[in-house]
Amino acid sequence: MERHEVIVVGGGIAGLTATAYLAREGFDVLLMEKNERCGGLINTFVKEGFRFEGGVRALESAGIILPMLKDLGIALETLENPVSVGIADHVIQVRSQANLHDYEVLLKSCYPESVEDVDRVIATIKRIMKDMQVLYGVSNPLFNDFRSDMAYFVKVYIPWFFKFLITLLNISRMRGPVEEFLDGIVRQRALRDIISQHFFKGTPTFFAMSYFYLYTDYFYPKGGVGQIAASVQDKILTSGGQIKTATEITTVNAAEKWISDSSGNRYAYENLIWAADLKTLYRITETAGLPPEVAGEIQTHRQKLLVAHGADSVLTLYAAVDTPPETFRELSNGHFFYTPSKQGLGEIHRSELKTLLENWATVTKADVLAWLDRFCQLTTYEISIPVLKEPAAAPEGKTGLIISTLFEYELVKRVYESGWYDEFRQEVEQRMIDVLTASIYPMLRENLLFKFSTTPLTIEKMVASSEGAIVGWSFEAPIPVTSSMLKINDTVKTPIPHVTQAGQWAYSPTGVPTAILTGRLAPDKLIRERKARARK
Ligand SMILES: Cc1cc2nc3c(=O)[nH]c(=O)nc-3n(C[C@H](O)[C@H](O)[C@H](O)COP(=O)(O)OP(=O)(O)OC[C@H]3O[C@@H](n4cnc5c(N)ncnc54)[C@H](O)[C@@H]3O)c2cc1C
Repeated sequence: MERHEVIVVGGGIAGLTATAYLAREGFDVLLMEKNERCGGLINTFVKEGFRFEGGVRALESAGIILPMLKDLGIALETLENPVSVGIADHVIQVRSQANLHDYEVLLKSCYPESVEDVDRVIATIKRIMKDMQVLYGVSNPLFNDFRSDMAYFVKVYIPWFFKFLITLLNISRMRGPVEEFLDGIVRQRALRDIISQHFFKGTPTFFAMSYFYLYTDYFYPKGGVGQIAASVQDKILTSGGQIKTATEITTVNAAEKWISDSSGNRYAYENLIWAADLKTLYRITETAGLPPEVAGEIQTHRQKLLVAHGADSVLTLYAAVDTPPETFRELSNGHFFYTPSKQGLGEIHRSELKTLLENWATVTKADVLAWLDRFCQLTTYEISIPVLKEPAAAPEGKTGLIISTLFEYELVKRVYESGWYDEFRQEVEQRMIDVLTASIYPMLRENLLFKFSTTPLTIEKMVASSEGAIVGWSFEAPIPVTSSMLKINDTVKTPIPHVTQAGQWAYSPTGVPTAILTGRLAPDKLIRERKARARK
């Protein structure tokens, strides 16, 4: 049986990070990924000359991503990723925090009867921006070797740390769902919806209201977001780490410390880092042969995790358009949060959707399409236009668009089981094109070269993510993992002997920066032990 000091399962950014740090320290490490390529929810692909993102559209460094690359000695060229926000025919640019004033004007012009409520929202965002400046004010200490710069440690890091503790206290006071927070300060339902409907259900208030700050932190790797995964992968290979792709792990034998893949091949490990879906880990872990108290603890964890739910998912329309980028640049920046209507989604994606799903046995195709009509008109779209970030991202004079909206996994799954999934996708694509042609992009339908779409089921299949989730666990309680920044060091531990966990399922709330952070933390104990042994 093949044998390794450490095996990492899951070649997303968390698994890549863990493997890169282990390889740098000289460990015999093997990364195993089920797909042909590593990257997971960070992936860029090209179709007929148009570059598209299959996962996250741009990155926020959050004091983590760029410091991690620097720490690993990876040179990644980055480009600007300015954001625009639009409601109906009003569009603003968000290039710096000063643009918060434009956001205030935008909201007040759309909702003139709610001026005081808008003031309260803006005051909250301003307060949170100050906390964000502290939170992301220094490079995360995990990616910064202070021993080489003690002056920085004393002059910058120690004073920062005290401010950081106060910020954590502020954050802990704003952990409730953003919908409830807005209920308390904004009377008009439409305004509340417009501010919050592109966040996941139950998003912690601090996380949601910090987004205006995060917009100004976004960057775009030259060559596409996938370049970040590719560059970490290269680093692993040049540091002596091994990567095995197209290999899905289907069994973990915890007592004998081996895993096996879908072809039945076994791989023995001394330590295992699980950087993929956690429900899968607990479903495939065999506990026979373990002491009863250990097996019991694993069973308790299994029960807690298997009833928990993944976060919201997305539906994405990819469109290639025979219209020059300049036309789109006149309308927005290359990363655009656009809501065609001021009306807000109201109960369409809440109680109405719930009723639809609860009565599925009697619901007709026409009922679903009528719901879809209103959803597509009123939802918020995240539109990414790679060619506006980098001219090489599309053929000369043409533009590729990535248009997505949060979308309910369960609805798509029911449609699939009812046998009209392909038809449903065509219907959604058509509606999204109609709505955007009638609002922000009048040329869209006429100039369309080709289109295709992906759904929550695509995400589920692509990265084996429970409920097609794109950011780990749902915020709707109970969240089965740590969500306290102060306890993040413990979040990588599991009750399975010699197994740690990393990635978007290991901590909440998450995203690329915390996937990287947990990827760095998961092998930390092993790395520290090895360094300590070397010093003796
Ligand atoms: C449309 C979209 C927008 C997003 N926007 C943002 C954003 O603005 N900001 C942000 O921070 N984050 C965003 N995210 C989320 C972010 O991309 C993810 O949270 C992050 O990339 C997760 O990384 P990961 O390594 O934890 O997991 P993944 O990327 O899911 O990697 C897990 C890997 O494990 C592999 N795997 C699964 N099961 C097995 C198995 N049994 N055997 C072997 N391999 C297996 C999978 O194929 C996958 O490659 C977005 C995601 C999407 C899709």
